[in-house]
Amino acid sequence: MIETWQLLVVVMVLLGTSCGLPSLTPEEIRSLQVPKPVSYSGYKLFRTDVGLVDLPVVDSLDNSDGIDLWSLRKKNPEYEIDLLTPPDAEQKVRGVFNEYNLTYQEVIGDLQRAINLELSEDDAFLWNRPAHPMTWEKYHSVQDMYQYIDYLEAQYSHLVTTEEIGLSYENRSLRVVKISTGPNKPAIWIDGGLHAREWVSPATVMYILHHLTEFSWEEPDLVSNFDWYIMPMANPDGYEYSRLHDRLWRKTRSVNPESPNCVGVDANRNFGFKWSMGGSSQNPCSSTYAGPKPFSEPETRAIRDFILSRKDQLKVFVTIHAYSQMWMLPWSYTLEVSPQYQDMYDVAKLALDGLKTVNGTEYSLGQVTDLLYIASGASGDYAHSVGIPYSYSLELRDLGQYGFILPKEQIEPTGVETYQGIKAMARAVYDKLFPPVQFPISVNEEATVSIE
Ligand SMILES: [Zn+2]
Repeated sequence: MIETWQLLVVVMVLLGTSCGLPSLTPEEIRSLQVPKPVSYSGYKLFRTDVGLVDLPVVDSLDNSDGIDLWSLRKKNPEYEIDLLTPPDAEQKVRGVFNEYNLTYQEVIGDLQRAINLELSEDDAFLWNRPAHPMTWEKYHSVQDMYQYIDYLEAQYSHLVTTEEIGLSYENRSLRVVKISTGPNKPAIWIDGGLHAREWVSPATVMYILHHLTEFSWEEPDLVSNFDWYIMPMANPDGYEYSRLHDRLWRKTRSVNPESPNCVGVDANRNFGFKWSMGGSSQNPCSSTYAGPKPFSEPETRAIRDFILSRKDQLKVFVTIHAYSQMWMLPWSYTLEVSPQYQDMYDVAKLALDGLKTVNGTEYSLGQVTDLLYIASGASGDYAHSVGIPYSYSLELRDLGQYGFILPKEQIEPTGVETYQGIKAMARAVYDKLFPPVQFPISVNEEATVSIE
């Protein structure tokens, strides 16, 4: 519902344009059409360990009375579950925990308080950086991120080019940054922000982009050995909606004429490989709605078309999500193992060794179905199915202390450690693609003899 003040502002904007007053940008006008923010005051995040027998009971709480299952992780033999609970449903949830003798803890006491802390900002430090608004001290708008991308393209034109690979449902630009020093190189794809509420994902992808460009001289092999295709914001409509209206929005913002009251599709269930074959929903109101058909969303189609046009060049596909600290391999639609599994695992192991050296952060490593659950229509499966040999789905920090509402103080440490992991991954893949030359043993023996 648009309120009176919003209508007034729109009228003022229109008058302002004709009177020569400063006018608002399309992004600002769009934001006026968004209703008042949803309040999560009094919402609690509970964590509980559940055995396989009781799992359906806890699972059935999801999507009822505003309860939202944030995360379900396999922690053999049990499952660890994070459950967001509105004040009105707290009695019910505690009742189920007690009835089934489940041990549980209150991880977040008031979610709105956590959101307010996350949003509080201090722009004072921006005074000496007029060229672009990007920082690692807060979560930025899509506009800020794109302004930084423009800056990089202008500043590092020998290294950086950008491309609009499509438009979102609400006509926002879907942008990919290419980092390249010349032709005929294998390529690495990294995307973030496919799920709107996972804010640390695009922030981390921007951090990786920042280092690969502005500090490329520190790691010259990374940009000389690979082309990098980086898409920091795969679902800009959802992200902006989560910034302005509902912090916990996950899906795209497409309107389905069959169910106009339930907006959006889970973009990571919408890819057209084994689509809707388990672990996704056919209910448009569900947060894991697979969509009316595969690739129904302009955002997933844009990624598909880009990947297909470069599938021979692309050797690595990384899609970045949050949270749970996991480095996951395909498949996610089946328990079966990819023929590339061991190679993917070897590389990921080195990536995680690198990641851990920074802050000691521990990740779980394995196939999606081993660490989480079956999920079909995911981008990591699609990329692997079209022949990209190394496909990784990352879940960044944390382990559920803050969940999706990761404090802004953790953006930079998350960026630093993830970049360390990505660097180790790239080098390990390069060694797999171009194994270092081994000298024949006889040559060494002769050399040894001659020295003696
Ligand atoms: Zn996600």
